[in-house]
Amino acid sequence: MSPKNRNKLSESLESIREQILKLSVSDYTKRLTISGDNDDLDSICIALNSLADVHESKEIKRRKDKQRLNNILEILLDYSVMDFSRKAEIGHEGDEFDALAAGLNMLAQELEYAISSQNKFAKELIKANSDLAENNEKIFAVFNNTPDAIMTTDLSYQITEWNKAAEQMYGYTREEAIGKKADKIIFSEPIPPHTFEESRKEMRTKGIWRGELWQSTPTREKMLIYTVSSYLRNADGVPIGFLGVNRDITRMRKTEEDILHKTEELKRSNTELEQFAYVASHDLQEPLRMITSYVQLLEKQYKDKLDENANEFINFAVDGASRMQTLIYSLLEYSRINRIQPFEWTNLDETLNEVLKDLKVTIKETNAKIIWDNLPMVFADKVLIGQLFFNLIANAIKFRSADPPEIDIKCEKRDNEFIFAVKDNGIGIKKEYADKIFVIFQRLHSKDKYPGTGIGLSICKKIIERHEGRIWVESEIGKGSTFFFTIKSNLINRVKHN
Ligand code: ADP
Repeated sequence: MSPKNRNKLSESLESIREQILKLSVSDYTKRLTISGDNDDLDSICIALNSLADVHESKEIKRRKDKQRLNNILEILLDYSVMDFSRKAEIGHEGDEFDALAAGLNMLAQELEYAISSQNKFAKELIKANSDLAENNEKIFAVFNNTPDAIMTTDLSYQITEWNKAAEQMYGYTREEAIGKKADKIIFSEPIPPHTFEESRKEMRTKGIWRGELWQSTPTREKMLIYTVSSYLRNADGVPIGFLGVNRDITRMRKTEEDILHKTEELKRSNTELEQFAYVASHDLQEPLRMITSYVQLLEKQYKDKLDENANEFINFAVDGASRMQTLIYSLLEYSRINRIQPFEWTNLDETLNEVLKDLKVTIKETNAKIIWDNLPMVFADKVLIGQLFFNLIANAIKFRSADPPEIDIKCEKRDNEFIFAVKDNGIGIKKEYADKIFVIFQRLHSKDKYPGTGIGLSICKKIIERHEGRIWVESEIGKGSTFFFTIKSNLINRVKHN
């Protein structure tokens, strides 16, 4: 080889070496020039150039992949601070990175959704917790403010809770009671004929027992207790203890018994009185009739044969006897009210027409006007209701003002009762006498001014009480009076159940 050729070869080799060196630092900018000699060196150059091409493209891909990987890593870093707003970029390569990016994006979406649901759930949980705390407060307030003693025990009757009322009722503080066996600090006795066995059996079968028993403690006298005992169960329904709610009914029972006793006594004395009034008025009628007829006979036969004084005395005697007759008759009427008559459906239009017939003469004499509308059918003692309307209308006419009497009868239904109003334009009644006039024999006027016995309104009161209602008056002197009374609209059911 000529020195010139050798030089050229070494130059070419140097260039190739340089190129290889560059390649080793990933610099693919330079390409080997091919001499065109088509010799071995050219083919080495071609091979090297294509190797450089391959490397270059690989390097480009590597960089791109690095970038994509960085993007993925950054996204992953974002995940660690729970920021899912950015998404991993997906190329068109459809390679593992793309799959990874797509997977990550999906994961981000799911995580985002999971976190937002978790946040929502957490918020709900916080709310539920605060509601629970509030409810607990309320339950605790109820637990401690209720007048009933409340205690809980475990299954071996060891006390686990004890409220304020229990402290007062049994004389042990919460601290003293908790941990103790209930039967060691409260002594209970069944009320014969009931037994503890019965209550235990009921607890076993129904899970709850309600009943009465005697209880005492070293510092508390025997108390009559109404108790409601039931199982305490866990969330799975398994019994874990007992709940006892106890009420001291000693005083209440005593009061009930007293009232019952007094009511019985009252009933008895009322019946006795009625009996007495009935017998007295009934039996008095006969001798009275005799007195009246003999005094009248005396008057007839001796009127002009005796002096003025004697005439006047006889007049007094006749007057007194007939007044006594009216009184006795009224008393008899009064005592008959509670003699039970069966209730029946009563058409008040018919009743009122009957009453007006009986009052025909008075109505005509006084020019009285009596109106009513829309009166209901009532389930009542027909005769007594007639008597009630008779008394009220007769009074309205009797206690009239200078104007002709105008009487307006109305009725309205409120809840389960009818409220009747009998309104007149008469002389009226002072407020302070509104109650007094319903008392037997109480009158506000002399018999000369207004005849009467003072028994009419007390009969009305008794009739209304028999129908479980009330009667009262609203009035103003000179402006007329309105007598109100009520009758239960459901008396038919009540009477049927009695
Ligand atoms: P009597 O009518 O026999 O006096 P009552 O018991 O019916 O007895 O009435 C008692 C009293 O109530 C009457 O004396 C009268 O003073 C008063 N009173 C009753 N109804 C009316 C009325 N509609 N207007 C004014 N006063 C009345």
